[in-house]
Amino acid sequence: MTAPPSIEIVSQASLKGFNSLSLPSSAEFFCSVTDEHQIQQALDYARDNDLTVTPLGGGSNLVLAGDIAGLVIYLDLKGISCHEFDSDVVHISLAAGENWHKAVEYCLEQGWYGLENLSLIPGNIGAAPIQNIGAYGVELRDYFISLKAIDISTGEVVVMDKQACEFGYRDSIFKQALNNRFLITEVTLALSTRANINIGYPALAEALGVGLGQDASTPKMVSAAVCAIRRAKLPDPEVIPNAGSFFKNPVVGSDALNELLKANKTMPHYPQDQGGAKIPAAWLIDQCEFKGLRSGNVGVHEHQALVLVNFGGTGTELLAFAGSIQDAVQERFSIALEIEPRIYGLNE
Ligand SMILES: Cc1cc2nc3c(=O)[nH]c(=O)nc-3n(C[C@H](O)[C@H](O)[C@H](O)COP(=O)(O)OP(=O)(O)OC[C@H]3O[C@@H](n4cnc5c(N)ncnc54)[C@H](O)[C@@H]3O)c2cc1C
Repeated sequence: MTAPPSIEIVSQASLKGFNSLSLPSSAEFFCSVTDEHQIQQALDYARDNDLTVTPLGGGSNLVLAGDIAGLVIYLDLKGISCHEFDSDVVHISLAAGENWHKAVEYCLEQGWYGLENLSLIPGNIGAAPIQNIGAYGVELRDYFISLKAIDISTGEVVVMDKQACEFGYRDSIFKQALNNRFLITEVTLALSTRANINIGYPALAEALGVGLGQDASTPKMVSAAVCAIRRAKLPDPEVIPNAGSFFKNPVVGSDALNELLKANKTMPHYPQDQGGAKIPAAWLIDQCEFKGLRSGNVGVHEHQALVLVNFGGTGTELLAFAGSIQDAVQERFSIALEIEPRIYGLNE
């Protein structure tokens, strides 16, 4: 039997090409892994050399505020398998390094439906559970069955179901109690073999030319409409470096909402099941006149107030600018905006 290929550990590796904000940063050590055996090798190396481990996917939800100490592991595991099938539902397992959008397209081609509203979200499969990716009324958790992960400190392989992942709005246990504790290697989803159209979003219904909530479209039409809206609305990171939505949409309680509406009668708001309402962060930022504003080498996109863009600046510059937006929104609306991407390298 031939021995599996060994991993190559590179020191002082540039991460500029590995993050969609194109921020300058180096990893003290870096390696790319393609299977579980290589992951164990990388974890052994980190343990032997007392290095912290940072998992890396497509780099589309990161702010690299400085250099990253320890070992950055790029998860490049590939493969999609279908292992349970009945007339209505198919269970598929996707390896962490598969590109999310390509996987959505593949599923559509196979006639496995559910992910079409999540078309064109950048990044890889392994990161999707970290913030429970969502768009146009659908979230990963709606189709999630389980994931396979490796404990960074022990190398133990675990399987976690939906309940164990504690998914929330752009949130999961991996951003909370299990922050940086696991490398996700595989995600298993239950998709439908029957079209299951969700057109609950006005912009999507309008793009499809149907009434809100109607299901007169095919999943491929929904995917195409989502892609068209996203291409028109969001800057392509290849052209203008960005990390998508920079802030989460804040949720305020009923009392705060009433106060806000007294002073801002046209404020858009979306009632939540648990009471109160979600307020679009983009509206708040726009009201504070940041849309299209440039500050040195960073700025807010001219058409999308929620997207911060990088014109060649650093992570610290970007975070200082984000702080000035948070301060302005806090002062005017008494709302604390929370940054959505994960921040690394702050105190290295
Ligand atoms: C233009 C644009 C639009 C976007 N639109 C949306 C949107 O509509 N909805 C949405 O939810 N998000 C959106 N995002 C954010 C981003 O696409 C998602 O968060 C995506 O899941 C990140 O995947 P990634 O592979 O790039 O993760 P990375 O940026 O590489 O990593 C993100 C976090 O996950 C961790 N991580 C990555 N892979 C693993 C793994 N295998 N195991 C353990 N931890 C891991 C990293 O350490 C980091 O903490 C957008 C981003 C951009 C640039």
